[in-house]
Amino acid sequence: MAGPVHPGGLRMPRTTAECLRQKFSVILNGIGSQPEAALKIPDAKLYTGYADLSAAQRRGVDFEIQIRRRQHSPIAIIAPHGGHIEDGTSEVAQSIAGDDFNLYLFEGIRSWHNYTALHLTSHRFDEPECLSLIAECQHVVAIHGCEGDEPSVLLGGLDLELKDRIAAALHERQVVAHVSGHRFPAIHPQNIVNRGARDRGVQLEIAHPLRRSTEVSQVVAAVRSILLPLQAAHVPYARRQTLKHRAHARRQRSLK
Ligand SMILES: [Zn+2]
Repeated sequence: MAGPVHPGGLRMPRTTAECLRQKFSVILNGIGSQPEAALKIPDAKLYTGYADLSAAQRRGVDFEIQIRRRQHSPIAIIAPHGGHIEDGTSEVAQSIAGDDFNLYLFEGIRSWHNYTALHLTSHRFDEPECLSLIAECQHVVAIHGCEGDEPSVLLGGLDLELKDRIAAALHERQVVAHVSGHRFPAIHPQNIVNRGARDRGVQLEIAHPLRRSTEVSQVVAAVRSILLPLQAAHVPYARRQTLKHRAHARRQRSLK
């Protein structure tokens, strides 16, 4: 691709990142007197994956990634559209994770148009640090935010058993929860929530009125009430694995 013409008449080479930035820019207000930065916004709908997003947007300026690992936890709570992309989802994910579960946040930190520029759709969300974390986790719960008038949670994902258990816990706390018949089934195998160690997870789409209400604490409590016993049941398994590895190492040493 030819580069832009320098004021001196020389054609400047264009980097791949610059080409991609142009590819993912849309003209909002037509060509006018406004500065270029005010006219163009990268269109996240065109991203085919994280490589496209990271070529068009800058980590530390437009987005940030936060990871908190809990070494013995087989559970990851993720918010792939955190920060200002889907407001409130980072906070909910953090509260669910607490000090108990692994946490991953991909956060929009732009001053404007976070959704337009950074909403990498879930079945294309392949950010490497997220994939690396959830590959080690038996259970993945993704927190999203959606529009809607009803203060409710729409549950999706391929972990049907865990989905039903979380829905039951939400109902117990008088939170309206739908497990089917809505627009976010999250059954695509490439959806980030389904890319953990067991190829299945649970996605929660929390409607805007609920995210903005104090009742969202009931969502946090409901999810934790299911995940904490699940994690406790995994600990003997983790201990068994450690003992197995130690025994194997001893056998290997004795053979030398
Ligand atoms: Zn989302």
